[in-house]
Amino acid sequence: MSGEKILIAGAGLGGALLAARLGMAGHDVEVFERRSDPRNTGLAEGKSINLAISTRGFHALAQIGLERRILDMAVPMRGRLMHDRQGGTVFQPYGTGKDHTIKSVSRGGLNLELIRRADEFPNVTFHFDQACTGCDPDRPAITLRGPSGQTRDAEGDVVVGADGAFSAVRRSLQRRAGFDYSQSYLRQSYKELTIPAAGDGGYRIDPDVLHIWPRGGFMLIALPNLDKSFTVTLFWPPEEYPGLDTGDVTGFFLEQFPDTVPLMPDLVQDFNDNPTGSLVTVRCDPWHHEGKVLLLGDACHAVVPFYGQGANAAFEDCTVLMDAVLEHPNDMAAAFRSYHLQRKSHVDVLADLAIENFQVMSEHVMSRRFLMRKKFDHLLELLFPAAYLPLYTMISFTRIPYGDAVRKAERQNRALGWVVGCIGIVAALSVLAVLL
Ligand SMILES: Cc1cc2nc3c(=O)[nH]c(=O)nc-3n(C[C@H](O)[C@H](O)[C@H](O)COP(=O)(O)OP(=O)(O)OC[C@H]3O[C@@H](n4cnc5c(N)ncnc54)[C@H](O)[C@@H]3O)c2cc1C
Repeated sequence: MSGEKILIAGAGLGGALLAARLGMAGHDVEVFERRSDPRNTGLAEGKSINLAISTRGFHALAQIGLERRILDMAVPMRGRLMHDRQGGTVFQPYGTGKDHTIKSVSRGGLNLELIRRADEFPNVTFHFDQACTGCDPDRPAITLRGPSGQTRDAEGDVVVGADGAFSAVRRSLQRRAGFDYSQSYLRQSYKELTIPAAGDGGYRIDPDVLHIWPRGGFMLIALPNLDKSFTVTLFWPPEEYPGLDTGDVTGFFLEQFPDTVPLMPDLVQDFNDNPTGSLVTVRCDPWHHEGKVLLLGDACHAVVPFYGQGANAAFEDCTVLMDAVLEHPNDMAAAFRSYHLQRKSHVDVLADLAIENFQVMSEHVMSRRFLMRKKFDHLLELLFPAAYLPLYTMISFTRIPYGDAVRKAERQNRALGWVVGCIGIVAALSVLAVLL
């Protein structure tokens, strides 16, 4: 790919990290972003919206020398703290090791660091306030609309669509025969709220855990920020609570999450001011066109946020893509095929896991059976570290491809079923032997 001109639509998490990787490797890169430059707008320093980054993400960040910097601005979370309606809590650790923590990081701050890092390379140029409105996959070229509405085309050797779940680059591929595409929405929407820092400047609740208020079909979660606030997200099905958007927000929270109301002095204002987000899963196939166009991150595999893996997966895309490019330096089509082949089935598995995990987080986490199983999983991991790894550990704290992790977990479950069955038979035979 050396010497070729690469155009990236989207300077979000995946696009900015890819620009840094390509810049490091000496490629000529131009990045076009719809939003304004966050270095000028100060948006990243404003309201904290955070996300959890784990092993896959930090591996990709280490490849551009940013791991330490991002760890310094992260708050580690060692497990989940579940809150019931009566104010009781139950803690469940994420893993068995000291390093088994997921890291809460400011989304804006992370994006800013990625842009700064990529911009250090003289061969990488960012263009902000440039919305990609379409792509001609055969040239390849993208059409861009500037702030005053004027349009222009930019032409390159490769176009990368890193422009998120509603990607304009992908939309252009969708019109071509043989391109499969589907999107599906959860019935839950989400709203971001805030628990501000306490009056003395400290945290109002435990900062080293991810807080969950599970209530079945809906839930509230809170992740800590470095500035001692928490980003709180309500996930709920609006059709079942049609009055909430227009009605008694405080009443709803007092009924469902009474202990959170004193923590959120701006609850009603935040609820009314902040947009309601939707939760979409996007699948498409293929993710590339003739070595000229490529999709990355949410543009080709948006997943719902319940496994905390969407950004991690977008970062991991960059790792796999750059390995594929190294392997096929003079054949872009082969590199893109290899990237697609290595990633597609695994992120399909992640999409299913993420949907299933909504039920885990909103319902199962409070059940005795779930908590016992987690303890048993961790005991087995401690006893047989080389043979047994819980699924959550494999997804969050290793780089085992998602599909392989699920297959290994299924094998472990089958083996465990056999062992438990055999113990049951031996116990039953022993009882019979005593009785007869
Ligand atoms: C509520 C919520 C919580 C989440 N929590 C987590 C979490 O804890 N951990 C995790 O790993 N993931 C999480 N995710 C998922 C994560 O946010 C995404 O998977 C990740 O941001 C994908 O990165 P991306 O670069 O593909 O897309 P994005 O980060 O969305 O970046 C796309 C960029 O393209 C720009 N753009 C869009 N359209 C155009 C256009 N036409 N022209 C030019 N630019 C354009 C956008 O402005 C944006 O900058 C969460 C998602 C949600 C909704």
